[in-house]
Amino acid sequence: MTEDNSRELYDRALSVLPGGVNSAVRAAIEPYPFFVRKGEGGHVIDADGNRYIDWVMGLGPLLLGHDLPEPVRAGIQRKASEGPMYGTPTEVEVDLAEFVVRHVPSVEKIRFVNSGTEATTSAVRLARGYTGRNKIVVMQGGYHGAQESTLVEGDADDPKPSSAGIPESFAEHTLPVPFNDEDAIRDVFEDHGDDIAAVLTEPILGNYGIVYPEEGYHEFLREITEEHGSLLIFDEVITGFRVGGLGCAQSEFGVTPDLTTFGKIIGGGFPVGAIGGRAEIIEHFAPTGDVFQAGTFSGHPVTMAAGLETLKFAAENDVYGHVNGLGDRLRRGLTDIVADQAPSYTVTGTDSMFKVIFTREGPSGVQRTPEDASGDNREQGSDSLEEQCPAGCRQDPTCPRYDYSPKNAGDVKNAETERWRRIFWRQMKEQDVFLSQNQFECQFVSYGHTEEDVEETLEAYKDAL
Ligand SMILES: *Cc1c(COP(=O)(O)O)cnc(C)c1O
Repeated sequence: MTEDNSRELYDRALSVLPGGVNSAVRAAIEPYPFFVRKGEGGHVIDADGNRYIDWVMGLGPLLLGHDLPEPVRAGIQRKASEGPMYGTPTEVEVDLAEFVVRHVPSVEKIRFVNSGTEATTSAVRLARGYTGRNKIVVMQGGYHGAQESTLVEGDADDPKPSSAGIPESFAEHTLPVPFNDEDAIRDVFEDHGDDIAAVLTEPILGNYGIVYPEEGYHEFLREITEEHGSLLIFDEVITGFRVGGLGCAQSEFGVTPDLTTFGKIIGGGFPVGAIGGRAEIIEHFAPTGDVFQAGTFSGHPVTMAAGLETLKFAAENDVYGHVNGLGDRLRRGLTDIVADQAPSYTVTGTDSMFKVIFTREGPSGVQRTPEDASGDNREQGSDSLEEQCPAGCRQDPTCPRYDYSPKNAGDVKNAETERWRRIFWRQMKEQDVFLSQNQFECQFVSYGHTEEDVEETLEAYKDAL
């Protein structure tokens, strides 16, 4: 496998792009990322002609894979050929809005924007404007894009900007708490209840290793926000139209948020974001309300066509059956491999999301040490693992792995993140499998993937773990 072209391109890129990239995480691949020339089905081909099975899928937007089905491609090409955009409304915006309103019960009205970041920024502003309150509660390790109100770390007593360039006085209004921790939420509402505009959370932590909510957690968030007159915002930029099919993760969990942010899949591979919710709240956006919100490119016809045709195709074909079925096979296969070869590790994910988290401890005190590879520990471990969640952690209290599986971002951070990135990722790549750049980013199954891709990938895991 040569990488001469990628190396040369990265060399050029370093002269003109900071870190050689346009989004920080892409530079996580060392010594340099490979440059993609094109995609094909569930694969990408790099600048040197190397072909990889691609489980990154653009970091989430590509539900259908790289080869867009004919009606989707035709819809995009038609819009692009009619002139890219106009600065006045178009029918396709209404079509996509109607589609989302029809399929996501909590959404009565929706505003389209151009990225997930813009969606969460506008949702936070809307929540503040609507409630007249300042503070928002977020989950530690949750990701809501590159925006001032959520690039905050620490805890509710001592929030700090997690990036240079953000005033401390902004961070003061953000209260980070651990995911899955009801007591922490009770505490912040006790201390700040009257000034909390919203709780903003991903339904499943999708940017920090994939952490599934414990049974009842979202119902609890729904109740306590209602009690205090705060909004519940689900950030479904990753999970929207991926988990729970066209009803999104909120339908899977049976919880109705006040606002939902969308991105990724809803634009069919083009830059997009959206804020949906109860009409009475969404109407507070300008021009009907006093919360300013606008964008030159918002509701871009080509993006709207890509999103609409993608979702229509998913509605009319067995897209979710296909991606969720392959996701299930991957997670089951990984669960077996992990039980056998690395019993302290945890398989996570649901529907078409998957990840193996390199947790350091497992049931029966199984610990990942070099001796484990052939030692007695292994037998002991696999015996006690028979009753575990078979296709990805469900936070089931009766599962033998329950006490060891990550419940929040702190647990994922304590995993063997360096081993994942520096050793494991590279071994997978050498076997032509492209996984996300680090332990934290999620991996995705697309409609373009095949059973063969799954089997080859499981073989590679067997070799690399
Ligand atoms: C990707 C992501 C965002 C940010 O979306 P961009 O389009 O990258 O700005 C926000 N929230 C979640 C949950 C995401 O996964």
